Amino acid sequence: MSSEFDLIARHFHRPVKRAVLGVGDDCALLAPVQGQEMAVSTDMLVEGTHFLADTDPRRLGHKTLAVNLSDLAAMGAVPRYATLALAVPDARDAWLTHFAAGFFALANRHGVELVGGDTTRGPLNLCVTIFGEVPCGQAIRRDGAVSGDDLWVSGTLGDAALGLLALREEASLGAAERAFCIGRLESPEPRVDLGLALRGVATSMIDLSDGLAGDAAHLARASGTAARINVDAVPLSFALRGQPQARRLRCALAGGDDYELCFTAAADQRDLVVAIGRSVGLSLTRVGSMFERAAGSAPVLLVDGDGRALPAMRGYDHFGAPP
Ligand code: ADP
Ligand code: MG
Repeated sequence: MSSEFDLIARHFHRPVKRAVLGVGDDCALLAPVQGQEMAVSTDMLVEGTHFLADTDPRRLGHKTLAVNLSDLAAMGAVPRYATLALAVPDARDAWLTHFAAGFFALANRHGVELVGGDTTRGPLNLCVTIFGEVPCGQAIRRDGAVSGDDLWVSGTLGDAALGLLALREEASLGAAERAFCIGRLESPEPRVDLGLALRGVATSMIDLSDGLAGDAAHLARASGTAARINVDAVPLSFALRGQPQARRLRCALAGGDDYELCFTAAADQRDLVVAIGRSVGLSLTRVGSMFERAAGSAPVLLVDGDGRALPAMRGYDHFGAPP
């Protein structure tokens, strides 16, 4: 057993280089950089809501930071600093060691310095605030899409949602499919390089945490446009392709935790977008386009490959009715 202060010192106190002052004082000190705006985001993971109680702590450390990095990626911001607020039921040293290992492995890969936080006793709850930098005026916001833009997504969608079904034994998968999907659920890879490469190319962007249908609706609403999504064009992994049609659609369009990027770009930028995907090692797929939104109509229209309209789908909403 260790005191709160030992615990912080052992698990979360790391030397900093970029920050003026890191963990240990009442505040961290960060020096603003001329010509840069600071992008700030907070994401909280709650046991039972965002992860199951027996999740591997190393993977949880990774995911706690990954979901925040994904928000910076979606703005085209360079990750710099993070704070970590943590409630744990007891001073579980082995668990914290693994949690910190997962957290810092990802933090180091992206040059993120942990500069502060808070540690209390309570039901397991993990909350990171992340700070990134983006040259003034260059952040890729949700509100920049215009009618006629293409709608793109990175990677494949729905794998994490299928992984959750597998963990709950609500879907039976082959061993390779199961490991792949649970990996996508528990160890998402934030698309930071892609977000940065899309500066000046993407007109709007959002990261996919609550399902393409719902997240594309956020983007469309913010931009005052509507999105037409061809569900037959949505990129699926080998794992999802083996699933029945209804489940495939539900996972890929209304499943959470993809942490891929969804963005718009002008139609004359297609070659450049594909080249950017290649340069960062990700497949980018055009799944639809933006169009003028008529008053009173839905922000997202789902169609099949023949252009036939399909029933609407909602994304995940913590306070909404179940999808
Ligand atoms: P205070 O009571 O002044 O808020 P704390 O005792 O909570 O200070 O924290 C002491 C120092 O340790 C502070 O610099 C705080 O930012 C840092 N800290 C506390 N918990 C964590 C954590 N989980 N990760 C990183 N830094 C932490
Ligand atoms: Mg405190």
